[in-house]
Amino acid sequence: MVDLATQYQKMQAEMDDAISKVVRSGEYINGKAVWDFSSNLAAYTGAEYVIPCANGTDALQIALMALGLQPGDEVIIPNFTYIAAAEAIALLRLTPVPVDVDPETFNIDVKKMTGSLSLKTKAIIPVHLFGQCSDMAPILKIAKENALHVVEDNAQSIGSIYTFPSGNRQQAGTIGDAGALSFFPTKNLGCYGDGGALLTNNENLAQKMRMIASHGQSKKYLHELIGCNSRLDTLQAAILNVKLPYLDTYIHSRQKVAQAYNEALEARPDLYEIPKCIAASTHVYHQYTLKVKQDKRDALQKYLKERKVSSMIYYPNPLHRQPAFRGVIRIGSDLSETEKLCKSALSLPIHPELNEEQIYYITGLLLNYE
Ligand SMILES: *Cc1c(COP(=O)(O)O)cnc(C)c1O
Repeated sequence: MVDLATQYQKMQAEMDDAISKVVRSGEYINGKAVWDFSSNLAAYTGAEYVIPCANGTDALQIALMALGLQPGDEVIIPNFTYIAAAEAIALLRLTPVPVDVDPETFNIDVKKMTGSLSLKTKAIIPVHLFGQCSDMAPILKIAKENALHVVEDNAQSIGSIYTFPSGNRQQAGTIGDAGALSFFPTKNLGCYGDGGALLTNNENLAQKMRMIASHGQSKKYLHELIGCNSRLDTLQAAILNVKLPYLDTYIHSRQKVAQAYNEALEARPDLYEIPKCIAASTHVYHQYTLKVKQDKRDALQKYLKERKVSSMIYYPNPLHRQPAFRGVIRIGSDLSETEKLCKSALSLPIHPELNEEQIYYITGLLLNYE
């Protein structure tokens, strides 16, 4: 699905130099590279404040902790997503409220969201799935009308740009009260281990999140809040500093691959539905996800595997069917579209190193599949 070794080889000298600088410095925690990365990421995203942390799941948890929610408060999330957001919500004794997704975009269905609100609803976590922003203008409107916090799960869509009806353009992760990023190696901007960050334009929230990520300390050994220990390693920050300048090129390559897939697979509308883009958002193609028709998804995956093409099912099980969440969630809407996607969605290899020959081989197999 990805080719991280080739990506490294292309910048080996630069990367080795950055890594060995950290190793030689001895500043393994909160070293200079961490501070540099914070300002580099602020410049790239346009966020006023960047709080680095240990991973994307922690980022979601820290944001929720900083919002001062009370046990029993409800948080709306899409039903078709990675488990991290629901987990952070439930760990804080808040109630995840899964809402169905729009089958065209895989993102939360804003119309169904409206019907999911209750007096206990305090926040929404839109997940920008697969590389495209959730429809943030109506989400912000619902949030404002109902005094809800908005935390964006932007683990998959760094660099995606949302255009408001006013023409105002903002990067994914900088639109809500806070945005959570992950630098897991396979994300569009990945380090060589775990890493994460929070983005916000709210100074108070930034201060609180920074404290929470550092044991709730306002200064050393003065703990004003109950926090956690969540740091981005200096080594990972140094790696991210090398890779961030390439992010737009990576995104462009992914878009090119997606376009090639689209152009080829349009010839088989009987079997494939190609991913749709909304006009309001750019797509950075963290995943290229097809909907396979005629109940043939699993057989197709087997056929590809036999021909040495990897593919992934994101996600095979909807949140509301996860055993750990039984009795923990409150179902927010009818969830029929999620159920269908769990049976039809198939993600193909997409990464900046995928070459034309490989794309040709993959699309050839897909076009000839009976
Ligand atoms: C990867 C991912 C996360 C979690 O990130 P980690 O850094 O692995 O903790 C959260 N949400 C979504 C949608 C993700 O894809």
